[in-house]
Amino acid sequence: MTPPARAAVLLAAGLAGAAGAADRPLVIAHRGASGYLPEHTLAAKALAVGMGADAVEQDLVLSRDGVPVVSHDVQIDTVTDVAGRFPARARADGRFYAIDFTVAELRQLAVNERIVLKSGQPAFPGRYPAGPSPLRIVTFEEELRFIRGLSKSAGRAIGIYPELKQPKWHREQGRDLAAAVLPLLTAYGYATEDAPCHVQCFEFDELRRVRGDLGYRGRLVYLFGAEPKEPTLEEVARVADGIGPSIKAVVAAGPDGAAQVTDLVRRAHALGLVVHPYTARADELPPWAKTIDDVHRRVLVEAGADGLFTDFPDLTAAFVRRK
Ligand code: CA
Repeated sequence: MTPPARAAVLLAAGLAGAAGAADRPLVIAHRGASGYLPEHTLAAKALAVGMGADAVEQDLVLSRDGVPVVSHDVQIDTVTDVAGRFPARARADGRFYAIDFTVAELRQLAVNERIVLKSGQPAFPGRYPAGPSPLRIVTFEEELRFIRGLSKSAGRAIGIYPELKQPKWHREQGRDLAAAVLPLLTAYGYATEDAPCHVQCFEFDELRRVRGDLGYRGRLVYLFGAEPKEPTLEEVARVADGIGPSIKAVVAAGPDGAAQVTDLVRRAHALGLVVHPYTARADELPPWAKTIDDVHRRVLVEAGADGLFTDFPDLTAAFVRRK
């Protein structure tokens, strides 16, 4: 770790510690401002910061040469033109995997708005147009440098929210994702409990390993859809600092379709866990919501969550500032 790196992240704006004010919910740009630009491009990250996000998310997978790159899935065929550029490189299942390509090869790909593989149609038709763009895949380290730069020029410490994607699958490929990611977090000054960084993962065993065997001291968040029986929230609280549940686990649809706030946030708070549900989308609302502000009100005000993943950081930031 270089002292200037840590200083730039944490002190660019004279801020120490967590991104966002402690007394208001954290606005987490889900894959960047993905409601407006192809997910996980630097353009989407910069737009999110310009829109007032407190933190930007990085989904992390490994390249063939073992470099963490920022992409949502281990397959890259729904967000790039890989099938056209490297048609012979599909696996037996017909899919194209980041781990089969070097960083130099991944850099040649154009990133597009996400498509649904089966239909070839945009996942969100109202968003950025489909088809190749001038945007590119970046490595995690490139994005860390970019965020450091943005923190300085924006005058505030932009938080990061890296997700370890499918560590078990990576291990089956003979690779250790966490072992490649954690040294970068240390090098850039994020591996402390007060740094503006949350490391998230759906695999609790991996979080336990990161905290235990790998000795990571920064903040950890356990992700889930429906609340699992195992691990219990008490077990989670012994390892992690927070949970990232689906919005459905925080505000359910009652029998009449009306919103029903669950007791999950209250129980998590009683154990000292922060709660950052996913994902607010203006163009894909829960059945009980008519607008994204209905989502904001139920999740952040009524349920009392501590932050929210959002594809529309401008709308979420505007709501949080009005409150
Ligand atoms: Ca994610």
